[in-house]
Amino acid sequence: MSSVRVWLGDITTLDVDAIVNAANSSLLGGGGVDGAIHRAAGPELREECRELGGCPTGEARISGGHRLFARHIIHTVGPVWHGGDKGEDELLASCYRASLALAEEHDVHTLAFPAISTGVYGFPIERAAQIAVREVRGHLAGPTGLDEVILVVFSSRDEDVYREALFPHGE
Ligand code: ADP
Repeated sequence: MSSVRVWLGDITTLDVDAIVNAANSSLLGGGGVDGAIHRAAGPELREECRELGGCPTGEARISGGHRLFARHIIHTVGPVWHGGDKGEDELLASCYRASLALAEEHDVHTLAFPAISTGVYGFPIERAAQIAVREVRGHLAGPTGLDEVILVVFSSRDEDVYREALFPHGE
């Protein structure tokens, strides 16, 4: 049985097969979790990402993990929040689905996601957490090579929101 859990901390430190990066469409690095991943993986990551030639919102691309423990980095570009009626929900769901599909293709057994779009891109965390949990659980309910998916949060407030999405009312 594959499992999903919430973990509070720095995603770059995780010893998993792959981590997901909340990238921007250039894939050349930025702030937030993207900056942290590029710093931890080293300059070779930027070189490899340059070859990938960017990524549209809602899609994902894969690279090596370079100096990380993770063998792979799955770069996905979340939507910028514009109030919720510009297809943001569907684009965010698409990021999770595209990342999970790439993980399966690359024989990933353990995968960690950050809270895509909920930082600088402004997607409300409660709404993003519902989408993350729905997409990951939905995926794990089908045929999968994944053993564990870790939803990584970076503040204790976000941790509470994610726990509530995963286990409503402490269920
Ligand atoms: P976006 O541009 O997609 O909003 P951000 O990097 O600004 O991406 O934020 C996405 C989420 O990643 C936020 O919840 C932020 O708190 C979190 N975050 C930032 N740094 C790290 C890190 N080192 N490990 C895990 N999560 C992080």
